[in-house]
Amino acid sequence: MNECVFCKIVKREIPSDKIYEDDNFFAFLDINPNNPGHTLVIPKNHYENIYSLPDEILCDIGPIVKKISIAVKKGVNADGINIIMNNDIAAGQIVPHAHFHVIPRFADDGLRHWPRKSYSNKEEVAKTAGKIKKELT
Ligand code: AMP
Ligand code: ZN
Repeated sequence: MNECVFCKIVKREIPSDKIYEDDNFFAFLDINPNNPGHTLVIPKNHYENIYSLPDEILCDIGPIVKKISIAVKKGVNADGINIIMNNDIAAGQIVPHAHFHVIPRFADDGLRHWPRKSYSNKEEVAKTAGKIKKELT
């Protein structure tokens, strides 16, 4: 059931360009990088997204994402790093195995950040904040 492409990479059923591995985590080069050095950091166990990722895994993956970010930045002499996690198809998630993108950036790489929007008025801002805060209680 959980035989997704990243599970297969962890099990060496399909090849990858491994960057890092420990008992619980695995990192490898993205096959279609935004820039050379674009690395994916994943938990070895299959969780689909941030919502189902256990808190302990989330705590443990943070320092690994940091370590990989520093190595990628130095390794490809990048000017900056974007860390991105897509969750759900609407957010651009293609592979349903939780993963963090570590993307090296260069001042002249031509990539653009998403365009920003505005709220129509202060009421919409307050209403939106209220709807989110209600879910936290
Ligand atoms: P996302 O859109 O966040 O689900 O990103 C999935 C990423 O996995 C994409 O950037 C793909 O290029 C990458 N990807 C898919 N299959 C492989 C593979 N076999 N090896 C390395 N990267 C892959
Ligand atoms: Zn998987």
